[in-house]
Amino acid sequence: MRKAKALIFEMGQPGRRAIDLPACDVPAPDAADLIPDAFRRRTSAALPEVSQLELVRHYTALSQRNFGVDSGFYPLGSCTMKYNPKINEDACRMSGFAAIHPLQDEATVQGALELVAAMEGYLAEIAGMDAVTMQPAAGAHGELTGLKLIRAYHRHRGENRTKVIVPDSAHGTNPATAAVGGLETVEIKSHPDGAVDLEALRAAVGPDTAALMLTNPSTLGLFEKNIRAVAEIVHAAGGLLYYDGANANAIMGISRPGDMGFDVIHFNLHKTFSTPHGGGGPGSGPVGVKKELIPFLPVPVIAAEGGSYRLDYDRPLSIGKMQSFYGNFGVIVRAYAYILAMGPDGLRAASEDAVLNANYCLSRLKEKFHSPFARFCMHECVLTSKDQKPYGVRTLDIAKRLLDYGYHPPTIYFPLIVEEALMIEPTETESKETLDGFIAAMLRIADEAEEDAAKLKAAPATTVVGRLDEATAARKPVVRWKA
Ligand SMILES: *Cc1c(COP(=O)(O)O)cnc(C)c1O
Repeated sequence: MRKAKALIFEMGQPGRRAIDLPACDVPAPDAADLIPDAFRRRTSAALPEVSQLELVRHYTALSQRNFGVDSGFYPLGSCTMKYNPKINEDACRMSGFAAIHPLQDEATVQGALELVAAMEGYLAEIAGMDAVTMQPAAGAHGELTGLKLIRAYHRHRGENRTKVIVPDSAHGTNPATAAVGGLETVEIKSHPDGAVDLEALRAAVGPDTAALMLTNPSTLGLFEKNIRAVAEIVHAAGGLLYYDGANANAIMGISRPGDMGFDVIHFNLHKTFSTPHGGGGPGSGPVGVKKELIPFLPVPVIAAEGGSYRLDYDRPLSIGKMQSFYGNFGVIVRAYAYILAMGPDGLRAASEDAVLNANYCLSRLKEKFHSPFARFCMHECVLTSKDQKPYGVRTLDIAKRLLDYGYHPPTIYFPLIVEEALMIEPTETESKETLDGFIAAMLRIADEAEEDAAKLKAAPATTVVGRLDEATAARKPVVRWKA
């Protein structure tokens, strides 16, 4: 049986307090003088009345219901949830970074400007691009910035190109960004082997093509082998290539989008470059471009002159400002600390280990779970519950049962083009023992599917709440206590 925990409102006794305040030694003001009558409450606020110890236990218990990468294995594919080394946190809390103000005079924040300029340089090198803007506040915001740059580029050349080609394996933000950017999405189907279908691409491009948005490795975890052919087809039609680099965890120091033929890229510092993410932010989605697009970058651009830095607003072709001030600075500092700590060899090793770990999971889980593509994967692998279907078990049941074994489930039902998908991204920081534990749990669940499907359908049995109606829980969450 599940143990129902008392709510804080159900605990305590009237008059019980968590603190003792000394009696007021000045005359107490009349509340009526402080708060206009119309705004005063006539009834008690009915706050919980608990001791300090009860209060501490309450919040500690709540915090222990959380699951994060610091508490356990968190294999969310297509959303790199990698470990954030704690030195990043130390770095961004240094008072020279944390206590400056964005309206301070440039002369007094030279170090901060130097750091942002250095990050632009590092990311340009990693991406194979000519310049980078650190302004966008997240991945989707980077996509919007990138598409605005592409529109400005075409317009400047006197061309009105309005269509963005997006493969059906794309992340959902890609078509959403195109729509917000005032462009039209043309979806192309993937080839059965997971790659871009070159015939479909040739048929889709034309004089109205503004760009192709692509992620490589794709959201199927596969490297696009025909990427040069893809780039040639789009460029020959006058379009540009946009690289969704939100998850670049397979390619750091190994392959560069700029060398593959891409013109614009965004990174997610909060995924690949190890700064905390989840719960809605803050993030950072820097955008890199080839030199033809530099004149259109958002203002201000950081200009280096004779060893000092200034903010340059005098850029007549700029798309304008994409964000108040200069980007989410604290996130940029964390990613900077990560890049410096890793160095070029460390970044490459991280990507190699990420790919190795994903392939280790894939090769062992293939024993009992169907693998839709007979290829090595990159930083994440896709499996399905096709082999469990005859027992009436679905991917959702497998994910819920994993909770009973103490693991955060992987991404499920994405990518959309794979039926009953399970997408696993272990990342580079997990040990072989952790992966073996996870794999053992998955294989055990495959056995349970055959022997006792009902147990899976009823899972999870060991968590604070059982199986929720997920749609209602997401759309109409009840987050407020009512008497
Ligand atoms: C996470 C992700 C995005 C969106 O990034 P946000 O920071 O959440 O806006 C875009 N594309 C891909 C492939 C992603 O994984």
